[in-house]
Amino acid sequence: MAGLDYSGVREPDYHEGSWRQSLRVTRQVEEVSRQVLEKWKNREKLAEEKFKGMKKVTLPRQVYYDTAGIMESQQQEFKVCSDCPGVNTIHSTNDRGDSLIGVQIPRQACPACQAEGYRLFEQAAKLKVKRRFLQDKAGNQYFAG
Ligand SMILES: [Zn+2]
Repeated sequence: MAGLDYSGVREPDYHEGSWRQSLRVTRQVEEVSRQVLEKWKNREKLAEEKFKGMKKVTLPRQVYYDTAGIMESQQQEFKVCSDCPGVNTIHSTNDRGDSLIGVQIPRQACPACQAEGYRLFEQAAKLKVKRRFLQDKAGNQYFAG
């Protein structure tokens, strides 16, 4: 709560110094940190191996908004491109009957992906979605339909 002074609040059963992280946990944290850093250093090579030969990557996702009680189903699709980060499309529907397609062209998009983004936005007009959006970061344009 903003504005309330909670400096006097004490965590129950918390006594400074009595909770110590075991050596085993510390070692595990160090090991996970090492692995994450290693992956980060090799991210370009790993991405190439993972996405080699793929034209697109699809990520399905379910999101439940508990305050509004809305269940959303998302299908995110990345176009894999060797020249740029590729076009990102989200197709969203929810249990209230709403739907949308959002297309995002990245700032560093190659001309082919930029054209593909516009094509996907036009194509969305023929699909049964209530709203469609195009964010063209490369061309600094935004369209809603
Ligand atoms: Zn591209």
